[in-house]
Amino acid sequence: MTRPETHTFQAEVKELLGLMIHSLYSHQEIFLRELVSNASDALDKLRFEGLTHPNWISDGEELAIQLEVDRERRRLSISDSGIGMSRAEVVENLGTIARSGTRKFLESLRQAGGQAPDLIGQFGVGFYASFMVASQIVVETRRAGEPGGTRWSSKGDGEFSVEDCDALPRGTRITLELKPLDGDDSQAQDFADPEVLRGLIAKYSDFVEWPIRMPAAHFQQDGRLKREPGLGGLECVLLNSRKPLWARPKDEIQASEYAQFFRHLTHGWSDPLETVHFRVEGTSEYTALLYVPSERPQELFDPARDKAHVALYVRRVFVMADCEKLLPSWLRFIRGVVDSQDLPLNVSREILQHNRALEQIHKRCTKKVLEALAAMRDGRRADYERFWSAFGTVLKEGVVVDREHSQSVAALALFPSSKRERPVSLDEYLAACPKEQSAIYVLTGPDLDAARRSPALEALADRGWEVLFLVEPIDEWLLDALREYQGKRIVQLGRGEADFVGEAERFELERREREYRAVFERIESDLAPHVSKVRFSGRLKHSPSLLVDDEHSIGAHMQRMLRQSGDQAPERKRVLELNLDHPLASKLKELHEAGRSAELKDCGELLFGIALLAEGSSLPNPTRFSQLVSQLMLVSGGAPSV
Ligand code: ADP
Repeated sequence: MTRPETHTFQAEVKELLGLMIHSLYSHQEIFLRELVSNASDALDKLRFEGLTHPNWISDGEELAIQLEVDRERRRLSISDSGIGMSRAEVVENLGTIARSGTRKFLESLRQAGGQAPDLIGQFGVGFYASFMVASQIVVETRRAGEPGGTRWSSKGDGEFSVEDCDALPRGTRITLELKPLDGDDSQAQDFADPEVLRGLIAKYSDFVEWPIRMPAAHFQQDGRLKREPGLGGLECVLLNSRKPLWARPKDEIQASEYAQFFRHLTHGWSDPLETVHFRVEGTSEYTALLYVPSERPQELFDPARDKAHVALYVRRVFVMADCEKLLPSWLRFIRGVVDSQDLPLNVSREILQHNRALEQIHKRCTKKVLEALAAMRDGRRADYERFWSAFGTVLKEGVVVDREHSQSVAALALFPSSKRERPVSLDEYLAACPKEQSAIYVLTGPDLDAARRSPALEALADRGWEVLFLVEPIDEWLLDALREYQGKRIVQLGRGEADFVGEAERFELERREREYRAVFERIESDLAPHVSKVRFSGRLKHSPSLLVDDEHSIGAHMQRMLRQSGDQAPERKRVLELNLDHPLASKLKELHEAGRSAELKDCGELLFGIALLAEGSSLPNPTRFSQLVSQLMLVSGGAPSV
């Protein structure tokens, strides 16, 4: 045996440990769930890797998890006969934090000033959670296929030691020196009490597929506990029911059991918003248990973790944790399990690329989830709005990238509206639409407040027509992909010419346009390169000016994205629209006709600046704009009364 080697923990682990050790967190019990789920993962991995290394598992060998306690010494151990860890893996896995989720957890905690204990449960901090209840932890482990093992130990004080250790069985044994019970706290749970441990296994780990056992000697004779041999041949009792929830008939499952399994899958505390559980029999046989979460996980837009969250099982054998072939990427927030009867057990990611059975599963699961969401939208509106604000942005990707589902996903979208407090769907919009209105009107913008205040709404507001606001970056892509819905065109109010003006109004616009052409040409050349065209507007009622985009011009978000990624973005062609009824219009003409071109230029610049500010954009030259405004105040003899 070599001398123990001392290592220091990665800085983030130290921070996490400091937090664990001083935590008065009421959910300390989750440490057991975390250890059991690590042990269960290790057994899954052994079974999977064992397919290609048949000599790793001998015939009739027990694959199980075992808890043992020594009440007097306050010592608890959790053993598994799983894959184990090599020395290098021990140092890597139990010395650093690999999960970006845990990093995010620390960040959120720093932001909350360390005062947010609930976050621990929400994130699940894995192995390190044990330092909430233990003053020292020893891990003894031997990786399958390797002759020697490793012993790791730490008091959670910034360092850990590692040494080689012979004669260990394959798998991992984690021994916790439990902290003394706090005599003052009558609520404190005693994790050295076998009954407490049994209760916790039932609460958190009942569905774990592997047997979880404790030595029978820990319990009084109790007929309800099944006695059987455990690891090392010790007489044990079985603590978990093991039957996977998804394999049970739907009508025999309580809502609380579904919720419990969801928490087991997500290592979280929240309940799912919706559960979709179905079995398909026939040419392809499988069971799917899918959940719509109620809270948006931290990693949703973290590119490294932003992936599928449905596990693939084959005949109840775990094959893959996050199988991206089961659902489209725009449903990646769905959690759950698919258990297939037909796929080969040793299925690889390559085989999954072109597998007919899997394509069918993909199709059916997508359909079922969309149906469940539509039913929630129609029957449980408050829940649905909560869902939409958490995951709507991801779902909108479906409209953009998935032609087949584009319309059905669009039907699920909710948008803020100019006329209603609560967000509305496209169908609700159409249902409330007056007969003479032939299009769906939408307005994009940098944010909802700016869009709500936009002068582009004036004429439609006057008519009492509703406008939907699409203010997320993805909405520009969405509008590119979705040109119509239920046969009605989708028209962007901030783009092209207003299409809703009546015959007489159009005639008048065109007449005045001809009259003003020379004035506008002058302003166009004064405002180049910012503005490509100046014209009268069919959209304005009160404000003097407005900026809109050319019909085919690139959108603001798209332009920003291209610039950020270092690409050459085409110029955005803006059109300055002026209010034909505003007295400023005739003022421009007077200046032009009197040859007062410097003043005309200043007026043009002011109208352009006003339009930029009204849409929430910044001015190209704010100093110049404020000079112009102050000059104007002097000329007019003070501030105008508005
Ligand atoms: P997580 O399980 O979320 O990855 P943990 O901190 O709980 O985070 O564990 C870190 C890693 O240590 C695991 O991913 C796994 O590789 C390894 N590990 C933990 N417990 C065991 C075990 N009982 N057997 C084998 N490997 C384990």
